[in-house]
Amino acid sequence: MQREWVTGACWLGCERADLPVIYLGPVQWDGQHAPFYACEPCLDRLKAQAFAYFMDRRPAIA
Ligand SMILES: [Zn+2]
Repeated sequence: MQREWVTGACWLGCERADLPVIYLGPVQWDGQHAPFYACEPCLDRLKAQAFAYFMDRRPAIA
């Protein structure tokens, strides 16, 4: 899947705008959709969190 950096606002809490952001997917809430963009530091934080989640849930290898 192609990911492209565009200039825009980060949706992940750092509240910065006019910086390179990447599209992560649609946010869906109450039947509404919005495009969800993240800057690189926020994306790194999200990836670390997702990785920790994955490692937590991964079944132990016997
Ligand atoms: Zn950000």
